[in-house]
Amino acid sequence: MNPLPLAGKHAVVTGGGRGIGAAIAAELAQAGARLTLLGRNRASLEAKVQQLDVLVHVETCDVTSPDQVQQAFKAAEKALGPVSILVNNAGQAESQPFARTDLGLWQRMLAVNLTGAFLCTQAALPGMLEAGWGRIVNIASTAGLKGYPYVSAYCAAKHGVVGLTRSLALELARKNITVNAVCPGFTETELLEASLANIARKTGRTPEEARSELAHSNPQGRLVEPAEVAQAVLWLCLPGSAALTGQAIAVAGGEVM
Ligand code: NDP
Repeated sequence: MNPLPLAGKHAVVTGGGRGIGAAIAAELAQAGARLTLLGRNRASLEAKVQQLDVLVHVETCDVTSPDQVQQAFKAAEKALGPVSILVNNAGQAESQPFARTDLGLWQRMLAVNLTGAFLCTQAALPGMLEAGWGRIVNIASTAGLKGYPYVSAYCAAKHGVVGLTRSLALELARKNITVNAVCPGFTETELLEASLANIARKTGRTPEEARSELAHSNPQGRLVEPAEVAQAVLWLCLPGSAALTGQAIAVAGGEVM
């Protein structure tokens, strides 16, 4: 087996400075890809670079801003060449009962989780088409495959990501570019910690009780590890995964099937 199956590929990971995105960056780096890490906070991106043993470029960018996205991808391509792998991972999860979901929250969730993936894909795709090879992996969520109460805006955005994935996969099916979604269940990251604190604040439960409740929604009775999500992403990016496209793969211990 080739120890560096992604050698020569330039991979962009949005939100690559922490959590699931950082685990994906580490996995792709180990497979030999050159990396661009993209996020709003330069310090956390640069801290991550220190841990990676490959050529890494950093771009600060808010994925909801069309201008910033265009500039960031231009600079990334100038630094490391055309993008061959795009992982749309940047995301946020705010919860509120539907009656208290105001237009601002709705638009924030759609902007970062769905429009961000749209903008980054539009920026990366021309280079992939020109090269005749590409891998796009969208980090959706089990919330892209089923409903959960109190996160209607997030759920709608993540269902949108799955729809975008399926549609674009068909459009690009004959272009040697695959488009897939990875759908994690509850995963041990800062995003989850914030959700636990929120549940605790709103329900009077302790964060530990909230954690145990979320773990029980996974049939394996545990939370998912970022590295497990990253393994699925790596698999989809491998040259041998060319026939896998348009899929929304749950990494959730059997919560969705
Ligand atoms: P974290 O909060 O740990 O990380 C989110 C990342 O996204 C950060 O690197 C952050 O960087 C970046 N980000 C957030 N907003 C923006 C923005 N506007 N522009 C650019 N970058 C942004 O979350 P996770 O690692 O848990 O989540 C990663 C993805 O996985 C998300 O899409 C999330 O919805 C999804 N997911 C997570 C689950 C979980 O339980 N943790 C379950 C299912 C899906 P910075 O702040 O520097 O911008």
